[in-house]
Amino acid sequence: MAKLVCSKCGKELDTVPQHCGRDMIYNEETHSYECYMGSECGYIDLDEFKCEDCCKDV
Ligand SMILES: [Zn+2]
Ligand SMILES: [Zn+2]
Repeated sequence: MAKLVCSKCGKELDTVPQHCGRDMIYNEETHSYECYMGSECGYIDLDEFKCEDCCKDV
């Protein structure tokens, strides 16, 4: 399981991201987390992931 690392501040998160109230699934091929409903519902690109603190700045 890949770790979530903020692309902005470099902070590591130990928790698995959630979507639709369930843990998201790591997709090794696309290097991203996908919703268990499928990537069309929601996904997080690990290369562009930002932690909550960095998201607040936007
Ligand atoms: Zn951050
Ligand atoms: Zn979802």
